[in-house]
Amino acid sequence: MTLDAQWFTEIHQDTAFSLRIKAKLHEEKTQFQKIEIYDTVAFGKLMVIDGCIMLTDRDNFIYHEMMSHPVLFSHPQPEQVLIIGGGDCGTLREVLKHRCVRHATQVDIDERVTRLAEQYFPQLCDANHDPRARLLFDDGIAYVKKAPAASLDIIIIDSTDPVGPAEGLFSTAFYQDCVRALAPQGLLVQQSESPLLHADHIIQPMHDSLRRAGFANTQTLYFPQCTYPSGWWTATMACKAGDIAFVRAEEAATPSFVTHYYTAAIHQAAQQAPAFMRSKLK
Ligand code: SAM
Repeated sequence: MTLDAQWFTEIHQDTAFSLRIKAKLHEEKTQFQKIEIYDTVAFGKLMVIDGCIMLTDRDNFIYHEMMSHPVLFSHPQPEQVLIIGGGDCGTLREVLKHRCVRHATQVDIDERVTRLAEQYFPQLCDANHDPRARLLFDDGIAYVKKAPAASLDIIIIDSTDPVGPAEGLFSTAFYQDCVRALAPQGLLVQQSESPLLHADHIIQPMHDSLRRAGFANTQTLYFPQCTYPSGWWTATMACKAGDIAFVRAEEAATPSFVTHYYTAAIHQAAQQAPAFMRSKLK
């Protein structure tokens, strides 16, 4: 990461993405990571963790909707939802748009991410006081290990990249705990980085690890995310049994809530693997 007076730049594997900044609003080093908040000219507020762009006002809706609605509309009756990470609360807000959800627990290791989101991204925290929401600050790996067997319908892993505190969230041992904590029809989804930059060392190994851990099937969703490295991102779903199916497609086509990116047609399109990914994920 480099920063001159006017630009925030994230450098990743010999590529870079920059946003012109109006001001740096906040910087702190927590027990877990360095968090920075900027005001940018074109993308509104920006949150950065350890030099990596987490979200901007302008494009976070794509990521948060794709991390929540496809997996929730692929479960016949998602009632118990666990979000690991997700401290900015944007995924939690989308999850709680589904009336069938009875409890949504968000477990982020770093309370400061949520406190700063409340201050600088209040629109993402709209649902934090929903009586169905529970915000905990703990290590997601330890939380899933202790979760009662078959107690969850959906696990959403909305984490930072697989380094530092998030590294273990990409391991077979953690996925085994997820399989145990999920009910028989349970589903998991995890942010799985860029198909252009991370197919060989993150996405493909993630499919292998999920299956090795006991998941019956896996499927990657593709969507644009222009502020993340390469501008193209993925989320990978896994089901405990059977196949991943768009079982609430009719409801998704006439939703009872507003979305800005997700539609039933986008859901189906996002399930289509590009040819190069199809051969890697065979
Ligand atoms: N959308 C983002 C992205 O892909 O860049 C992720 C956003 S969210 C802010 C990521 C969160 O994961 C951070 O708040 C971080 O504290 C949390 N996190 C990292 N490791 C964790 C762990 N082991 N348990 C729980 N939360 C974790």
